[in-house]
Formats: sequence, C-alpha cells, structure tokens
Amino acid sequence: MASDLEHALDQLKKIGVRMTPQRHAILTYLLNTRVHPSVDEIYKSMEPKFPSMSIATIYNNLKLFIDADLVRELTYGDGASRYDAVMSDHYHAICTECGKISDFEMPPQLDAEHKAHKETGYQIHSHRLEVYGVCPHCSEMKAAKH
Ligand code: ZN
Ligand code: MN
Repeated sequence: MASDLEHALDQLKKIGVRMTPQRHAILTYLLNTRVHPSVDEIYKSMEPKFPSMSIATIYNNLKLFIDADLVRELTYGDGASRYDAVMSDHYHAICTECGKISDFEMPPQLDAEHKAHKETGYQIHSHRLEVYGVCPHCSEMKAAKH
C-alpha cells in the first residue's frame, strides 16, 4: 500500500536515514509481501533487479528497519529469522510441513500476560503466540498422495 510506504519513508527520513534504490526496493518488497520472508528469500527477490546486492546489505537494511520500528524480526532457534512488516497486533499460524507463516487476527491475549506476571513476578511487556498445523496447500498435497 502506498500509504504504508509513505509512512515508512517519512519515518526513515525523520531519523536521518538516506534513501537508496536498494533500500527502497527491500522496504517495498517487505511492505508488499505477506510471506514473512527469510533473508535468503529477500535476497532471491532482489537478485533480478539488483544482481550485485550482497546478503550483508540486506542484513544491514533489516537492522535499520527494525530499529525504526518498521519491521519485526521473528527469531527461531535455528537462526533462520523471518521478517514481518505488518506492525499491527496479530498472531501467526505456522505450517509444520512447509514452514509457511500466515497471519490471523485475534484480540490481544492479555490474560496470558497477567497470569505470567502473577506466577513469575516478571514485568511483562509483550508476548508472542504461534499455532502450528498443516496449511491448506500441504493438506491438499497430503490428501493427493493417499
Ligand atoms: Zn504448508
Ligand atoms: Mn505476520
């Protein structure tokens, strides 16, 4: 969406980030995708237009976007982070077959935060909730095999 891009460009300008064609392309890609890409996926998407773009450039830009609150990093134990430019509250369903991550909306589960605070004494500031299952595409593939 154009307004998301304008907001993002504004935000970067405000904190003094210089816009480059590469930076603009990565940002636009992230704002227009719902696949929660990994660094490799971002790299592959940039390759046709920017064959000389390095992985390091992508990491540097991601860090910049994260610091500017334009992108969220979803970290996983194996170091294969995924990136999400949808900054509104939402949750994720993850396919255990293909790794696809899909958004779904639900009111923020504040009960979990209250309960966690009560039981652990932590000052809770956020939470992350993921559900796991098999996506429609993989379900179909599985059904076709049987
Ligand atoms: Zn799947
Ligand atoms: Mn998401």
